[in-house]
Amino acid sequence: MSRSVSINPATGEKIAEHERLTASAISQKIELSAQSFKDWRNRSFEERAERMHQLADVLEAHKEEYALLATNEMGKIIGQSRKEIEKCAWVCRYYADHAEQFLCDEPVTTNASKSYVTYQPMGVILAVMPWNFPFYQVIRFAAPAIMAGNVGILKHASNVQGCAQVLEDLFLEAGFQKGILTNLNISSDQVSAVIEHPLIAAVTLTGSEAAGRSVGALAGKNIKKSVLELGGSDAYLILEDADLEKAVDIATFGRLQNNGQTCIAAKRFIVLEAIYNDFLQLFKEKMQAAKMGDPKDEQTYYGPLARVDLRDELHDQVQKSMAQGAQLLIGGQIPEGKGAYYPATILTEVKPGMEAFDNELFGPVAAVIKAKDEAHAITLANQSNFGLGAGVLTGNKTRGEKIALQLDAGNCFVNTLVASDPRLPFGGIKNSGYGRELSAHGIREFMNVKTIWVA
Ligand code: NAP
Repeated sequence: MSRSVSINPATGEKIAEHERLTASAISQKIELSAQSFKDWRNRSFEERAERMHQLADVLEAHKEEYALLATNEMGKIIGQSRKEIEKCAWVCRYYADHAEQFLCDEPVTTNASKSYVTYQPMGVILAVMPWNFPFYQVIRFAAPAIMAGNVGILKHASNVQGCAQVLEDLFLEAGFQKGILTNLNISSDQVSAVIEHPLIAAVTLTGSEAAGRSVGALAGKNIKKSVLELGGSDAYLILEDADLEKAVDIATFGRLQNNGQTCIAAKRFIVLEAIYNDFLQLFKEKMQAAKMGDPKDEQTYYGPLARVDLRDELHDQVQKSMAQGAQLLIGGQIPEGKGAYYPATILTEVKPGMEAFDNELFGPVAAVIKAKDEAHAITLANQSNFGLGAGVLTGNKTRGEKIALQLDAGNCFVNTLVASDPRLPFGGIKNSGYGRELSAHGIREFMNVKTIWVA
């Protein structure tokens, strides 16, 4: 029987091993889930909301315990792990309070005596999830889907199976019946059989472009709805009228938060020529001053990457970019000792065609790009196969908004970091995926949008 292994990336020590499920155990769990759907879909919004508020209570009550588990399994600094659990509770409460309003019938005037649109749940939804926000990514899918009357099957990343099991358990603790959220400990090779299972209605994946291509193709082959939330290489345009200190603070936190492993992290810094040297000097100082270290130490600014193989892959990307002509300003060396650490790194002279420009760097490595003027900066920002988020830093909000409207991305923020918020849709275009999570748009993704016509 194969097993997944959780390894603390700060120390390299094994935390636990978890047995993977066999094909027959997977089928049994999917069948139980489908059985639960038959009942759950008929529960009132009021009853579902009561459970969902209870789920938020459980998350808040166990915040320290869950935060520590996330930090141990994937290396997020402890303060950010706590914030992740708080955000999960917010999303649960938001959908508990708004699901009914988002899914109410919509009367349409036609030549029928009565015609309207009604939203009905699709059934068992498979969620393939990444390790980088091990609680939040799952809740971001599960809270709206379950409030809508669907049920969820979770295939979480192999390195965070402790978090995955806790997620299933906390639904039970909140009073949801068995089968509403089910954890399947399976490898990525076992995902295709789950997608093909006749009781699976749809699939959502948050993860890399490669995983998205594979899961999206399988969903298409089986004519099942899919949502893909994939990687990004978010551009931040730093204009000559920006408040430089503020811009540097945003750039530093944006690149180093979650140890550099956020889909909407600031990755390409496109700086106008007029302030390029000043920005670079301050950015270098701030990035160097950020303390790398033990993620459980409250003074740490950023911790290790989630796995040693991911750290080594990032280092290869840095070296490839340098071979292609990028200049190393700081960092770029794997530190000695245990753990999956990688230092804050700045690459300059980055240009289209280089690894650091064309692909996602999932770690604390900033690619700095010089632009002649505003129009050039916009062209460079859009010269990407990704389209998840983008930022504009400027002293003129109107100018920033005009630029935001010209950027090819799903989420464009002016004078602050791109962030997800349950009140607004979240998702990407181009190779960053399709479909939306959060807000009314997110909850409607896994619904049968049904027309009723009474002649
Ligand atoms: P990943 O390697 O793609 O893994 C994500 C999930 O997909 C894991 O559960 C993984 O399982 C599974 N998986 C991998 N390959 C698969 C395949 N061929 N078929 C089926 N399942 C497969 O991504 P990651 O390294 O965990 O996460 C980092 C990536 O996620 C980055 O690109 C990041 O930008 C993206 N991301 C996007 C968003 C967003 O909202 N757009 C949010 C967070 C992260 P195993 O662990 O068992 O391999």
